[in-house]
Amino acid sequence: MEANPAINESVTHADVLVLGGGPGGYTAAFRAADLGKQVVLIERYPGLGGVCLNVGCIPSKALLHVAQIIHEVDEFEQHGLNYGKPTLDIGKIRAWKESVTNTLVDGLARLVKQRKITLIQGTGRFTTDHMVEVKTETGIQNVSFDQAIIAAGSHPTKIPVFPNDDPRLWDSTDALELTEIPKKLLIVGGGIIGLEMATVYHAFGSEISVVELMDQIIPGCDNDLVTPLYRRIKKQYKNIWLETRVTSIEKHNDGLNVSFEGKGAPDSAIFDAVLVAVGRKPNGKLIGAELAGVNVDELGFIAVDKQQRTNIPHIFAIGDIAGNPMLAHKASHEGKVAAEVASGLKAGFDALTIPSVAYTDPEVTWMGLTENQAKQQGIDYDKAAFPWAASGRSLSLGRKEGLTKILCEKETGRILGAGMVGPNAGELIAEAVLALEMGADAEDIGLTVHPHPMLSETFAFAAEMITGSITDLYIKK
Ligand code: NAD
Repeated sequence: MEANPAINESVTHADVLVLGGGPGGYTAAFRAADLGKQVVLIERYPGLGGVCLNVGCIPSKALLHVAQIIHEVDEFEQHGLNYGKPTLDIGKIRAWKESVTNTLVDGLARLVKQRKITLIQGTGRFTTDHMVEVKTETGIQNVSFDQAIIAAGSHPTKIPVFPNDDPRLWDSTDALELTEIPKKLLIVGGGIIGLEMATVYHAFGSEISVVELMDQIIPGCDNDLVTPLYRRIKKQYKNIWLETRVTSIEKHNDGLNVSFEGKGAPDSAIFDAVLVAVGRKPNGKLIGAELAGVNVDELGFIAVDKQQRTNIPHIFAIGDIAGNPMLAHKASHEGKVAAEVASGLKAGFDALTIPSVAYTDPEVTWMGLTENQAKQQGIDYDKAAFPWAASGRSLSLGRKEGLTKILCEKETGRILGAGMVGPNAGELIAEAVLALEMGADAEDIGLTVHPHPMLSETFAFAAEMITGSITDLYIKK
């Protein structure tokens, strides 16, 4: 029988095969290679970095930086700084954003070479519990493996009844492409992606409407931390409809006609573009996991133990596909654990918390127990919230709406959770995470000398509010 030319019969072997080259996958591959394993990394797109680097965290941060400059310049007009109205060269901004991601993608390619990892570009699927078939541009390549790490990520949730083939209906990837600035943009979903993109397009001149199913934006976060953001964008945006859902979207020549059901929203309205940002779905059902015997649940998640092992002990799963929260920093830490366990080290994923940051303006960030969770779990806690209106650094940025909140266990004073809202608040959360991981109490945090005048001081001030030693505020006994 003649050989099928599309099948490359040579089988590559991997000590450790990594499926997916996002922040979880490339971290796992690099760590396994550093621990002496022969690694094959499979990625369907030409560049490594996955959603985060190519169509997520990094390009969005580049655009958010442009938005921040526009807002800051605009707001400082009242304080005597006037550059006039900005003119936007969208093509140049897009090229700059792409140059940021390209620099990082090129850097990853270099790191792959330096570690002598075999990188195969193509779409991989398991065919057995020791074999993955990769569809490449030149044909099929089979890779056998001793151990595998699944890091195949997630994709944006689509609502099937919406006209998903219409170019005016966007997901986050479309929004980041920055092909046009729609006059009227509707954002479906007041979560992190929706609000970050709203920040960008508002700064670029779109009239923004947001529709959110729940009774607050960023529903997973405590309401007091979200309120300063809500108050600010309520003034900036045309509409924020809470407790409202979209019932249909119809294609019209002059735009997308969207019908609503809920509090305060009109029956219908026309928009030039609609961004759907209602969550992401794991890719568990797209990788032939069943042929490897790996259990995938109904939603597409793969359950793992503390060592990131699936039900098949030599196959691991990390990142979005292994459960919420779908965050790059969770994926990369899990990737290290999987690579270390696969290399015979005693590792486990036992982080006490995974911090969240919304890079909106103001930024919102939180970690550990939220106050809602503490209440639900009946935990006795002390709470303090330091207002940034009393922070010299915040006022010198021209902003006073921020807040730093800390929750400590009543009996021991140990930190349970913390959150901040304000410009650059996201930079502050890592200290709170470290405090939680180290078992710090309010006294430890308050007695730690923080440089002045910095926003980071607000964390120590909040702790001093708990211990009663605050002098930067007057609290009546
Ligand atoms: P999300 O879950 O953060 O927010 C989705 C929002 O849409 C929720 O508020 C939800 O209540 C609402 N919603 C759901 N269905 C709706 C409907 N039919 N109509 C109106 N509202 C509806 O999801 P996302 O913003 O799409 O982000 C996806 C994932 O990516 C999340 O896990 C997120 O944490 C992650 N992400 C993180 C960052 C970051 O860390 N800065 C940035 C982008 C994305």
